[in-house]
Amino acid sequence: MLVVMKKDSNQQAIDRVCDLIRARGFAPHVMPGAVRIAIGVTGNQGFVEIENLESVDGVMEVIHVTSPHKLVSRDVHPEDTIVDVRGVPIGGKEIVVMAGPCAVESREQVMHIAREVKRLGARMLRGGAFKPRTSPYAFQGLKKQGLEFLAEAREETGLPIVTEVKDTDNLELVAEYADLLQIGARNMQNFTLLEEVGKLRKPVLLKRGMSATIKELLLAAEYIMSQGNYQVILCERGIRTFEDSTRNTLDLNAVPVMKALSHLPVVVDPSHGIGLWSKVTPMARASVAAGADALIIEVHHEPQKALSDGAQSLTPKSFALLMRDVRRIAAAVDRTVASGE
Ligand code: PEP
Ligand code: MN
Repeated sequence: MLVVMKKDSNQQAIDRVCDLIRARGFAPHVMPGAVRIAIGVTGNQGFVEIENLESVDGVMEVIHVTSPHKLVSRDVHPEDTIVDVRGVPIGGKEIVVMAGPCAVESREQVMHIAREVKRLGARMLRGGAFKPRTSPYAFQGLKKQGLEFLAEAREETGLPIVTEVKDTDNLELVAEYADLLQIGARNMQNFTLLEEVGKLRKPVLLKRGMSATIKELLLAAEYIMSQGNYQVILCERGIRTFEDSTRNTLDLNAVPVMKALSHLPVVVDPSHGIGLWSKVTPMARASVAAGADALIIEVHHEPQKALSDGAQSLTPKSFALLMRDVRRIAAAVDRTVASGE
């Protein structure tokens, strides 16, 4: 359910509506927009009458939202949401490129890559410190030390950090360092983790599970938002199909579909989506053409020595070409990509 308030309604009227919603045992979610203030109602099953609601000063109308993902839905928030990650807006005219290694491997490695991607126009630094690996014997990440190296790279370059939080045990620690908390594909339906990040007031990058439908991704985002954290970015990173020529199948259909269903920004990860470095750039170009609000790209200065995902990592030299190309495509769709130094 959605309560639409008149644009000029005051705080007192908003509080009154929220109190009436709470009195019925439901949760109010105030979502200010450019043309109206909406108050989403969650916790109700189907349409319910809330006494006196329509007669409260400032209430314009009460709408029944039929989609199962309410707060994520465009019905609730018609304008695009812009998520601010330490001063970098995601979801606006600028297409933000996040880049960096799959995993933080050493201080030197992450500092070197951070300087390179910054020079080439990346606006955020990616890098995993807690790595969810398929094999228990594979490199699991530098953990706290990895976070410290990322913070040092942010200090020097000014690039905000996106890094994965793998479990609730380490959430407090990772949230201390991360500017954007990444929930990995393998955790998209870890509902406890989703609820815990929902209690924070920090932006979240939610990756699509490798066998998850778009609806399931949107409902996973709803878990986060239902707890009051509305700063969610959806990420398409490829799904499992019968095709085995590539690591995953990058589902670019998801971009326009999610943009239509939801007001949240959409990021595409062509690195994991295709898994082959030489094909990352064409898919990055296609992602921008399809309407992505941001890209997340794996870059390593020595991919053959990388401790994870070397096969899909671009060298700084090939990343430079990707940036040149996506700038051209962005201009064709009336968007921009930051220029390098
Ligand atoms: C990653 O970003 O390095 C990663 C592990 O991604 P995903 O969860 O999409 O596999
Ligand atoms: Mn990776």
